[in-house]
Amino acid sequence: MNTHSNARRLVYLDHSATTPVRAEVLAAMLPYFADKFGNPSSIHSWGREARVAVDAAREQIASAIGANPQEIIFTSGGTEADNLAIRGVAQSLKDKGNHLITSQIEHHAVLNTFQDLAKQGFKVTYVPCDEYGMIDPDDVRKAITDETILISIMHGQNEVGTIQPVEEIGKIARERNIIFHSDAVQSLGKIPVNVDAMGVDLLTISSHKIYGPKGVGALYVRKGTKIKPQVTGGIHERRLRAGTENVPGIVGFGEACRLAQQEMPEESKRLRELRDRLINGILNTIPDTVLNGHPEKRLPHNANISVKYVEGEAILLNLDLFGIGASSGSACTSGSLEPSHVLLAMKIPHETAHGSLRMTLGRSNTKEDIDYVLEVLPPIVEKLRAMSVFGN
Ligand SMILES: *Cc1c(COP(=O)(O)O)cnc(C)c1O
Repeated sequence: MNTHSNARRLVYLDHSATTPVRAEVLAAMLPYFADKFGNPSSIHSWGREARVAVDAAREQIASAIGANPQEIIFTSGGTEADNLAIRGVAQSLKDKGNHLITSQIEHHAVLNTFQDLAKQGFKVTYVPCDEYGMIDPDDVRKAITDETILISIMHGQNEVGTIQPVEEIGKIARERNIIFHSDAVQSLGKIPVNVDAMGVDLLTISSHKIYGPKGVGALYVRKGTKIKPQVTGGIHERRLRAGTENVPGIVGFGEACRLAQQEMPEESKRLRELRDRLINGILNTIPDTVLNGHPEKRLPHNANISVKYVEGEAILLNLDLFGIGASSGSACTSGSLEPSHVLLAMKIPHETAHGSLRMTLGRSNTKEDIDYVLEVLPPIVEKLRAMSVFGN
C-alpha cells in the first residue's frame, strides 16, 4: 500500500464497514472448503458431516441472541436478511393491511426495500429521530393504524452509533399485535442482543461485522411468524431460503458469534475506553468539533464527529495518507457529496454534516493507535481550514 506516503503506522478505524476474519474463525472454516465439502442435503456421510457443522453453527448463533436454533434462517448477509424480513412480511400479510412503519435513519438495506414496497402500493411511514439520532417510541405508537402490518426499527445505528429503544417499541408492537423487525447487525457482539428482551419477531444479523466471513448472515424468525420466501427452489432453511448452504461461511459465522459472545463484556469495555479517549481527545484539541449521536446511549465502538468548515471527504483522504482508515457517514454514501440521510434526519446543518467523520474501533486497535490519530488529525484539520472557502 504505497499510497500511505506519510504513514508511521496503519490504523483501521472502519469496523462498522467490515472487519477482518479472525484467525480462529478462518481455522474453523478451512476444513469445509475441500476436505469436508459435502452438501448438507445429501444423506451419505459427506452430507451428514456438513449438516452436523451447519447445525452446530445454528446453535452457536441462536445461543448468542437467545433464540431456538430452528428460528435461525441463514442468508447471504444482512442485506438479504433485511429484504427477507420486510418483503416477506409485506407479501405474507398484504391482505391484512397495507401500512408499514420504519424510521428515517435505517440502513439502506432497509430504507430502499421500503421505498420499493412503497412503489408497489404499500403505505410507508418513516418516523423521525431527535438531534441525537434517537427514535421516540411514542412516534412509533402514533404512526400505527388499523392497516399496520410491520414495524422495522434498527437496534444500533450504523453511522452515529445511537442505540434505539427497541424494547419499548417491541412492547408497543406486541400490544397491537404487529410484527416487529429489527436490524441488529451493528449491535451484535457489542451490546447484549436478546430476541425476547427486545420483543422482536424478526432480527437481522451479519457475519462480516463480527470478524466472520463476508457473504453470510441470518434472519431470526420467531416461531409462528409468517413470512413469504424471496428465493425459491429447494426445501432448505425451513423453505424460507432456498439454495445449498454456504457451509464454510456458516461455520465461520457460528465461530465468530461464539467468540463475540464470550469476549463481549471485556472487549466492549476496552473499546468504550478507547472510543472515549478518541472522542474527548478530538473535542478538546480541535476547535469547532461536535459529537454526532447520543453521548451515552451509543455503541461502544462508534465515534462520529463533525469538523466544521471542512469536507469530511478531504479529511478522509488526508488520514489515508497517514495510514488511517475512517469513513464519512456510511461506506455506501461516501463518494457522493450528498450529506448522509441520518445526519440530515438529525437536523444537523448541511455545513456541519459535510464535515462528519465516522471512526469505528475494533479488536486490533490500541491506545497507541488512538494517540497516533490524535497527533495526526489536528494539523490535517488546520491545513484544510486554512485552504477552506468557508473561512473560519
Ligand atoms: C452492514 C450492515 C448491513 C448489511 O449487511 P451485509 O452483510 O453487508 O449485507 C445491514 N444493516 C446494517 C445496520 C449494517 O451495518
